[in-house]
Amino acid sequence: MRIVVTAKYVPDINTERGFSEGRVVRTAGEGTLNELDENAIEAALRIVEAERAAGRIGPDEGEVVVVTMAGPDGDVALRKAFQLGVDRGIRVSDDALAGSDYFGTAAVLAAAVRRLGDEAPVDLVVTGMAALDGLGSVVPTLLGAELGLPTLNLAKKVELAEPADPGQRVLTITREIDDVTESLTAPLPAVLSVTDGANQPRFPGFKLIMAARSKEIEVWSPADLGLDPAVAGSAGARTETLTAAPRPARPEVELVTDKGEGGVALADFLIRNDLV
Ligand SMILES: Cc1cc2nc3c(=O)[nH]c(=O)nc-3n(C[C@H](O)[C@H](O)[C@H](O)COP(=O)(O)OP(=O)(O)OC[C@H]3O[C@@H](n4cnc5c(N)ncnc54)[C@H](O)[C@@H]3O)c2cc1C
Repeated sequence: MRIVVTAKYVPDINTERGFSEGRVVRTAGEGTLNELDENAIEAALRIVEAERAAGRIGPDEGEVVVVTMAGPDGDVALRKAFQLGVDRGIRVSDDALAGSDYFGTAAVLAAAVRRLGDEAPVDLVVTGMAALDGLGSVVPTLLGAELGLPTLNLAKKVELAEPADPGQRVLTITREIDDVTESLTAPLPAVLSVTDGANQPRFPGFKLIMAARSKEIEVWSPADLGLDPAVAGSAGARTETLTAAPRPARPEVELVTDKGEGGVALADFLIRNDLV
């Protein structure tokens, strides 16, 4: 069982985030592993552990590889993934990738998955439900389209059925959208995105935290992936950010203690602010 997890390096939501020239400012040392990708990593680790526990693969078989498209600071995200227990970390990096839009990002990640597939079969690609900076929630679907694989999105529950035919594994997910619970199934290989409700990511153990510090990070370029640079980066972007300005500060909250005149004060406030 070989699983690739895509994980994004994003500005830490507890830091001041901003835009410069239409792009998110990614300040060195102020970024982190996209929190929602921890659920993707946890889902992948649990699938491999379940395969080992069921004796379908040996105790040393199975692999979880994390891929990120990011600048050198992206290593922060991969080291966090190592702390969680992933086996391998790959950063796809090149200045030409800056400004990638959804399509460019998916094209780069797909090329990385294909290259891993050249080494040995990839059974599953797992992503988070969204990146906490772009919040597009579209890369998983575009990745499935790029790879020509079935895509199961927003899984709250993930099941890999007992193999009826050893060569054919079937993945079933359950998801909740509004007040509907859906169950979807697809054969592997597939692309899967999991929600933050799918699992509780494990806490890194001391041994893994120490090992993560020196674990090797592989750095691949678009050329290593045989990727035409024109499909990604601002060169390949189909969208352009025209303006990005800090949201205006919220107006002061007007507190009214209702001593019987509350209704009058509310009506006055609505009129004064042209809300009626
Ligand atoms: C505020 C903001 C708005 C944007 N608006 C647009 C827009 O309207 N149109 C547009 O085309 N682009 C837009 N972009 C660019 C967009 O961020 C990138 O294309 C981005 O890399 C993917 O979009 P996302 O962050 O929304 O990811 P999502 O689609 O939310 O990501 C879902 C999952 O895909 C994986 N993933 C996403 N990016 C990476 C990565 N770099 N490395 C590894 N895994 C990854 C992660 O597993 C993540 O959980 C925007 C970026 C920002 C920060």
